[in-house]
Amino acid sequence: MQITRLRLLGFKSFVEPTELLVEPGLTGVVGPNGCGKSNLLEALRWAMGETSYKSMRGAAMDDVIFAGAQDRPGRNSAEVTLFIDNSARKAPAEFNDDDVLEVTRRIEREAGSAYKVNGRDVRARDIRLLFEDAATGARSPALVQQGRIGEIVNSAPQERRRVLEDAAGIAGLHSRRHEAELRLKATESNLARLADLIGQIT
Ligand code: ATP
Repeated sequence: MQITRLRLLGFKSFVEPTELLVEPGLTGVVGPNGCGKSNLLEALRWAMGETSYKSMRGAAMDDVIFAGAQDRPGRNSAEVTLFIDNSARKAPAEFNDDDVLEVTRRIEREAGSAYKVNGRDVRARDIRLLFEDAATGARSPALVQQGRIGEIVNSAPQERRRVLEDAAGIAGLHSRRHEAELRLKATESNLARLADLIGQIT
């Protein structure tokens, strides 16, 4: 799977509909200070499911919505769409019918955000697994933010192992195992409760 295009509408400084083609050979984005280079990378991470507003340099998640400028009012919503080439059919089964996946995250002021894949509502979990299986995602070590190299160099061995696992594309397996363990625990506690109830009525 390859991200081929990024479309932004009302996201941070990108109040006008804006498209970035991610073509083979693209290695960087250059521009004057404050023109929105970091906002582009944040849009990519946000659409892949970023949950931390702090890591989006905001005081709340609504801060990703265009806040207004001298000559124009703020907006009440923001939307980012990632276009993914899935012609090699590497996406998880539920998304694997289409050559192109359009992954959209939309946020409404004071109403939170929601995800769609090819126009169909999906859960944040589905988006996380979609990208984890492709060895990328909102926290992927492939997206190197300022200060990240230093963080990795100084990180504990477990954290470094997580970085390697993300890069190997097995983070999705860990997520699924964690979910299965939680379900198992819930079932065990239901069984224990059931045994108590049976004990009381026999
Ligand atoms: P530098 O080279 O200095 O790191 P940059 O090109 O990475 O800059 P960004 O940090 O991406 O620039 O963009 C900063 C700009 O985005 C600032 O002008 C800021 O006012 C604007 N901005 C951030 N959030 C919003 C928002 N919610 N609404 C409107 N503008 C915003």
